[in-house]
Amino acid sequence: MEVSFHEEIEALKLGAGETFHGEGILAVTKALLQSGVTYVGGYQGSPISHLLDVMVQARPYLNELGVHVEACTNESSAAAMLAASIMYPVRGAVTWKSVVGTNVASDALSNLASPGVMGGALIVVGEDYGEGASVIQERTHAFALKSALWLMDPRPNLPTIVRMVEHAFELSEASNTPVMMELRIRTCHVRGSFEAKDNQAPSISSVHLQQEPSAFSYDQLAHPPATFRHEKLKYDVRMPAARHYIETAGLNELFEGPLTQVGLVVQGGLYNTLIRSLQQLGLADAQGQTEIPILALNVVYPLVPNQLLKFFEGKKAVLVLEEGQPEFIEQEIATHLQRAGCRTQLAGKSHFIMGGEYNAEVMIKGLTRFMTEHAPEVSVQAGHDYEKVLTTTRQSALTEFAGAVPARPPNFCTGCPERPVFAALKLVERQVGALHISADIGCHSFATFEPFSFGNSILGYGMSMASSAAVKNFSAKRPVAIMGDGGFWHNGLLSGVSSTLLNQGDGVLVIMKNGYTSATGTQETVSTPLSEAKRVAEGSSATVGEMTIENTLQGMGVQWLRTVHNYHVADVRDTLYEAITSPFKGLKVVVAEGECQLERQRRLKPIRAKRLQQGLRTVRTRYGVDEDTCTGDHSCIRLSGCPTLTIKESSDPLKTAPVAHVTDGCVGCGLCGEVTDAAVLCPSFYKIEIISHPSWWDRLCEQVNRWVIQRLQAA
Ligand code: SF4
Ligand code: SF4
Repeated sequence: MEVSFHEEIEALKLGAGETFHGEGILAVTKALLQSGVTYVGGYQGSPISHLLDVMVQARPYLNELGVHVEACTNESSAAAMLAASIMYPVRGAVTWKSVVGTNVASDALSNLASPGVMGGALIVVGEDYGEGASVIQERTHAFALKSALWLMDPRPNLPTIVRMVEHAFELSEASNTPVMMELRIRTCHVRGSFEAKDNQAPSISSVHLQQEPSAFSYDQLAHPPATFRHEKLKYDVRMPAARHYIETAGLNELFEGPLTQVGLVVQGGLYNTLIRSLQQLGLADAQGQTEIPILALNVVYPLVPNQLLKFFEGKKAVLVLEEGQPEFIEQEIATHLQRAGCRTQLAGKSHFIMGGEYNAEVMIKGLTRFMTEHAPEVSVQAGHDYEKVLTTTRQSALTEFAGAVPARPPNFCTGCPERPVFAALKLVERQVGALHISADIGCHSFATFEPFSFGNSILGYGMSMASSAAVKNFSAKRPVAIMGDGGFWHNGLLSGVSSTLLNQGDGVLVIMKNGYTSATGTQETVSTPLSEAKRVAEGSSATVGEMTIENTLQGMGVQWLRTVHNYHVADVRDTLYEAITSPFKGLKVVVAEGECQLERQRRLKPIRAKRLQQGLRTVRTRYGVDEDTCTGDHSCIRLSGCPTLTIKESSDPLKTAPVAHVTDGCVGCGLCGEVTDAAVLCPSFYKIEIISHPSWWDRLCEQVNRWVIQRLQAA
């Protein structure tokens, strides 16, 4: 990874008396160190990648503290790390993107939750839900409920977030239970400040070694008959202990207000949006002073019945603001109220949408309805006005911009090495007809959008090969599974390749070998090549980074294996065609090699800038379209999809169609030239080399070129 987190690492070193400024996710990272963690692990993914990325780069500092950091190969291995806290009094934290990562980790999580923990164990999950989400819309809450893991959802406010992280370890130790902390997208990215404390060096660590392994205790194994006892402990001992801690430590927050006939119970993570919505209704101010009493649940599981009943006492009605489906919290509250014979009316999903984000619009509408029904003496005219303005604005925007604003789906970066492979696949389809494509998670999933529109299924990270296992047996044409190198090491090697080999499957797998898990922020994989400079800087052994996908596949017995250079589109096309039509029965793997352009540019830009500063010869490559020969049929655009390859009005008055045009964003990857060649399109593309600080030879060549061109033009 070429991004430097120098500033963030400095922020991690702050001590007592200093003020931390920054994002919520970095505040969590700092709070882990203040809590004396012995180990941290995880698998990257939005919105928590920053936590692990910063920790990995901060290794030299963490080594001084004795904190071990592990960049795990998947969430399952991260969850399994927490086993260290079962039998040792050490604190540990792991992180991943949820709900997908929690799905992957769930086997280890169940086996961790059953025996419980001695040292505090914290699982920080990025709750990727709502408008900015990139995964299936489900809730981590379900996992907490089924395994009896406590779930925190902190109010997006840095001092609160830090306090919750510190309490999470205490809660975990007080109840012998791992704690999950769901960090919503907005919580991760909220900015603020808090008064830092000194980081705590753990008492058992890579600096202070544990001299003996823990004593054998069958009771701590997730294995019958111990598991029967664990189930009883979870609900008879650990949960009451957790409820006691949550109540006495004041983890949930009560915000008093004068309208005591009603109340609001809100997931902590939604608190900021709630205050903003109340402000729109004139029922709160910008400082959070509310008219309606609010119980903000920084711990959403387990709920504390006593605390809830106290809040409900004497109220006519209470509204629960719980995002997503199903309404776990509302159902549990209803059960507690029913058991206690409480007569306060409970409202919740009846006033809100079942699925989707609770943004200000959703909240204002729900709050307006609730107040109209249960506190008609309080004016919520502002809410009705808001709805009217919103409807009018929407309608006028639809009329004004209808059809004028095109959809802008996400796309590959300019010069992405994965784009040529899909261009080649399009050319193959011209030869063999439409193919079943098993898509996967990663940058290559952008090929599901136009101009490629490839992908018949996406079943999870590294699951493309496995998801074509049945299809290939009833399809006349071989389906093609696409996977990135990130997905290959995360899961694809076992669930796809190994399974296909075991079943002697006749499939085609294309592995995009771009060197990184690019979609999550270009983190390194076991096969990421190390530059010599990095090798020296990191003191790595020569073997690191030399494990290749090809070596691994050969070692597993894959007999049909080809490596292609992505930008050689004709070669890629021919190799894919061969894989799809070959008489060879068995797994056929095409490794499509080309470095992630984003990382390549990050790597090259400083080198180029330095050379320019030193006055050294520097060459930049760009492509262009000769407007005179471009016919304006735009086949090149439909085949490459490069965002810098666009159209412009022709300066020739006889040409009515716009011509193709390359903008300044071109990085000179060469795809457009290659694709026109492979698809036998037209000779319009030309390559330019822009030379800074040219040599005498460059100048001489340039003069000769000019002279020849002038002579030819004169002739
Ligand atoms: S991050 Fe890298 S692999 Fe992903 S789209 Fe951009 S260039 Fe392609
Ligand atoms: S215009 Fe052509 S050479 Fe330039 S980045 Fe796009 S595909 Fe690559």
